Amino acid sequence: MEHRHNLFFPRLFESGGKRILEISILAENTPGRIAEVSSALADKGVNILWGVHHASDRPDVAWWCFFIDGEGVDEGELRDLISGVRGVREVHISEANLGDMVVDVHHGIQLLGPDAVVEMRAGWLRNVFREAYKRWGDDGKRMVEFLGLYGGRKSYPEWRRRFGLEGKALAEAALNVIVVLGWIERGEVVELDVKKSVARVRLWNTFESGEPSPEPVCHFLKGVLTGFFSEMFGTPCFGREVACRAKGDEYCEFIITKKPFTFSRG
Ligand SMILES: [Zn+2]
Repeated sequence: MEHRHNLFFPRLFESGGKRILEISILAENTPGRIAEVSSALADKGVNILWGVHHASDRPDVAWWCFFIDGEGVDEGELRDLISGVRGVREVHISEANLGDMVVDVHHGIQLLGPDAVVEMRAGWLRNVFREAYKRWGDDGKRMVEFLGLYGGRKSYPEWRRRFGLEGKALAEAALNVIVVLGWIERGEVVELDVKKSVARVRLWNTFESGEPSPEPVCHFLKGVLTGFFSEMFGTPCFGREVACRAKGDEYCEFIITKKPFTFSRG
């Protein structure tokens, strides 16, 4: 398996009583820019805790944003120092302490490609789903599955166009997208037969399966896969979750097959 580790970039953390500053630098995206800024900071004994180097809305400049231990740091002096590095266009330094916590104060909407994404704690979302299942039973499960199904159907033509891939390669690319979204840790297409309209997919550490349950619980992801493969096969499919982490299995496994019959909506 390829290397993967958890993305843990704290944008919300306990200050431990320390003064923490957030620094955002807009600079030319050319070799050595980060090295020059960090060596200027190192000369002043400033320790960078963690940060992110991310794109701006212009191709020639990028943001480098990070938190530092701000004890005894003079902001004005630091701003002058960083502004003096060639290629630096903007410097923003802010106190990031709020009560006992530190909060990222420099970033607004998060983008994934051209799309705005909503981050939600997995536990919150699981609670929303669990409440729907408790209140509405099988109807609740079908509703959550339908939410996934709709997205899965929509995403098939989009990823096909944007990745320029087909079949198994496209399905694997789409699994990589939901890894990036944090819905699963990794996924594998174990079996795919487009002619027979059959797919078998394994997902590790799905967000839905975070708490124990006697039966499979990944109704949303089952819907996503069912919608995706229904579009790929060009026929309405149904999905079954035949193994689930929530009931102690190593991974969640889904089998998507052609519906044996369909009721007309007439
Ligand atoms: Zn599951």
